[in-house]
Amino acid sequence: MAASTYHSCMICKKEVNRLKYHILKEHKDIPDLETYFLKYLSQTGVPPKCDRPACNKTPSFDVRGMRYNRFCSVKCSNKQTNFTIKRVSG
Ligand SMILES: [Zn+2]
Ligand SMILES: [Zn+2]
Repeated sequence: MAASTYHSCMICKKEVNRLKYHILKEHKDIPDLETYFLKYLSQTGVPPKCDRPACNKTPSFDVRGMRYNRFCSVKCSNKQTNFTIKRVSG
C-alpha cells in the first residue's frame, strides 16, 4: 500500500493531494507554505531558532517535510553534532 500523500488543508478542511499547489491556487492570501505552516500548524506562530544554542538564526523551511530544519546551516548541524568531541585547534 502506498503511503498517503494527502494532506488536510487547515484552511478549507479539504483533503488535497498537493497541498502546495492547492494553497497557492485556492488561498491567495497565503503566499507560501512557510506562511501556511506558521499560521495554521505551528504552535508558536513564529519561526524557530537554530538548534545550536550559540546561533540565533532561523533555519530554512523544508517545504517537502512541512517543517523547519533543525539547523540554519550544515555548519551549525556539524558543530552541534560534534559538540562533545573536542577539537584540537591549530
Ligand atoms: Zn484549502
Ligand atoms: Zn545556526
